[in-house]
Amino acid sequence: MEIDNEKKELMGIPPEELGELLVALGHKKFRGKQISKWLYSNSIHDPEKMTDIPRTLRTWLKENCRITLPEIIEVARSDDGATKFLMQLEDNELTETVYIPDLENDRNTACISTQVGCRFKCAFCATGTLDFHRNLSSTEIIGQLYLTRDYIRESGVELTNIVIMGMGEPLDNLEQVIRALKVMLSDTGFGIGHRRVLISTIGIPDGIKTLMQTGLKPKLAISLNAADDKLRTKLMPINKRYPIASWINLTDEYAKYSHRWVTFEYVMIENVNDSLIHADQVVKLIKGRPAKVNLINLNTVDGLPFKPTSKKNMLRFQSYLLSNSIVATIRKSKGQDVSGACGQLAAKSVMK
Ligand code: SF4
Repeated sequence: MEIDNEKKELMGIPPEELGELLVALGHKKFRGKQISKWLYSNSIHDPEKMTDIPRTLRTWLKENCRITLPEIIEVARSDDGATKFLMQLEDNELTETVYIPDLENDRNTACISTQVGCRFKCAFCATGTLDFHRNLSSTEIIGQLYLTRDYIRESGVELTNIVIMGMGEPLDNLEQVIRALKVMLSDTGFGIGHRRVLISTIGIPDGIKTLMQTGLKPKLAISLNAADDKLRTKLMPINKRYPIASWINLTDEYAKYSHRWVTFEYVMIENVNDSLIHADQVVKLIKGRPAKVNLINLNTVDGLPFKPTSKKNMLRFQSYLLSNSIVATIRKSKGQDVSGACGQLAAKSVMK
């Protein structure tokens, strides 16, 4: 595919930045908001159809700008309604995005990726088995959302929530993720409220600090999986560099900053982190903090040695947390049959 680098990209550019770009090119700043509205609210990406933009600017946009979207090359629909999209990027790299419906609660979530592959190699995660290829640009991050939103709109469903917990570690690609967040959260972007956007991280202290300087307030989730550094390092080697003590107090600060509790995600693995001893370690770490725990049973990945815990252990773990005044929920994964559930994303049909 030939890439035209001469033209200015419009997809995934924060509305404010787009306004500044237009000013620099001799146009009015508010046109940036108008163009963003056409793009993100109305899904119009042909400048000719942006009818409240003067004809001269429409022609200019057509001649000088580009609107790049990934290409959906495979759609896998789970029995539970979750849909996984394999998307091809301009340089033929692949990424995956998952739509997770919860029609009962009127919650329709897109789980988006931020990198091709991942540097961090968590032992239980399919993405961690891939080599790290590259970061996604804000154009590519927003492109995933755009296509997912349009796909579900065809069935009369509107996107309500976004989770940034697909392939990759978002805080390892913070600059582009922040730009993408601006598009997601802005009224003239996707207009999704701060409390409906969640960013999930393994806990990178500088990343959390930087996020708190932006004024953007997505919900924060930390992939915990063990409250003891030794075990956590086994499961998540990056814990050696960023041990729990390096970020735990920042989660309290983030809760204060965002006015929302932080979620600690805990993937339950049989005979690894699912005993009451482990639950007690979680209690000691979390108790008194503005935080809750989300227990997720492991979604198995071919070639990885771990098994999900039993329902009995899961409930026992949850009860222990609850009896110690920790808010603990059990999250049911969707999309397992199409390898679209948490920890299963590996763009596997081609990256293998
Ligand atoms: S869990 Fe997240 S950080 Fe760990 S390997 Fe998977 S994608 Fe990377």
